Order: sequence, then C-alpha cells, then structure tokens
Amino acid sequence: GGDESAAKKAAAEGLVDSEGPTIFDKIISKEIPANVIYEDDKCLAFRDINPQAPVHFLVIPKVRDGLTRLSRAHEGHKEILGHLLYTAQKVAKDEGLGEGFRVAINDGPGGCQSVYHLHLHVIGGRQLTWPPG
Ligand code: ADP
Repeated sequence: GGDESAAKKAAAEGLVDSEGPTIFDKIISKEIPANVIYEDDKCLAFRDINPQAPVHFLVIPKVRDGLTRLSRAHEGHKEILGHLLYTAQKVAKDEGLGEGFRVAINDGPGGCQSVYHLHLHVIGGRQLTWPPG
C-alpha cells in the first residue's frame, strides 16, 4: 500500500534509522556537490543546504561506523566524537564566530533528526535564543 512504499522510500533515502546509505554518503564520495569548508582524514564540514542562521554548517564523520544517531554511540566512538566536537569549534573560529555559536545534535524522531548519519549542526552569525523549538 501507499504507506508501505512511503516507508521504503524514506528508508532508501536514509530518512529513518537504518544501516542503509544516506545523502551524506554521496557528499563524502563527492557524487553530489556540497560547499565543503573543512576536511581531514576523519571528518568533513560543509554548509547546510537550508541554513537556519547566517552561518550554518554540519560536521560529519567520513565513516559512519554504526553512528546513525548519537544514541548509537559506544565506548569505541569516544575518539571520533571528541574529534567532531573539537573540529566544530575550530571551524566556527575560521567562520568568524568569535562572539559565540551553538552546536546541536538532533537524535531520533523526538529530536527532529532527518538524516541518519551522525552530524553536528554549528549555527551562528546572529544572536541565538534559548530554548530552541
Ligand atoms: P533536520 O532536517 O530536522 O534539521 P537533521 O538534524 O537530521 O534534521 O539535519 C539534517 C540537515 O541536513 C538539515 O539541516 C538539512 O538542511 C541538511 N541537508 C540535507 N541535505 C543536504 C545536502 N545535500 N547538503 C547540505 N545539507 C543538507
């Protein structure tokens, strides 16, 4: 039925938690273009296609290694998690966010996550408010 094919489509596009590929794999492989602002052997930072502030970029691990979402983290992920957070602040400085910025990770349906490849949102360049929606 319609619901079933919609669910399959969402899974194929990486919009639900599964081990399948997501749009970010195509960005990592350069199959689709992205505005990459930082890259090293472990991670990639690129501008969000739908920015929520003057500066909005994502930091993602190049190898997902089961990290579809933050809540899948295990002990062995501590190093990459630290590297992503460290990179977020380094690139934020390069982007001129010396006044401050926000790092956010949306986890799961309750957290409004839509792409199931772990990513840190870094947002700044305007006065942010709290709490977020
Ligand atoms: P949400 O979509 O609710 O923000 P996520 O936390 O999963 O949920 O964020 C995914 C982010 O990826 C979104 O901010 C979206 O704009 C961004 N995005 C999706 N596709 C691309 C793309 N091709 N290039 C850059 N950013 C993208």
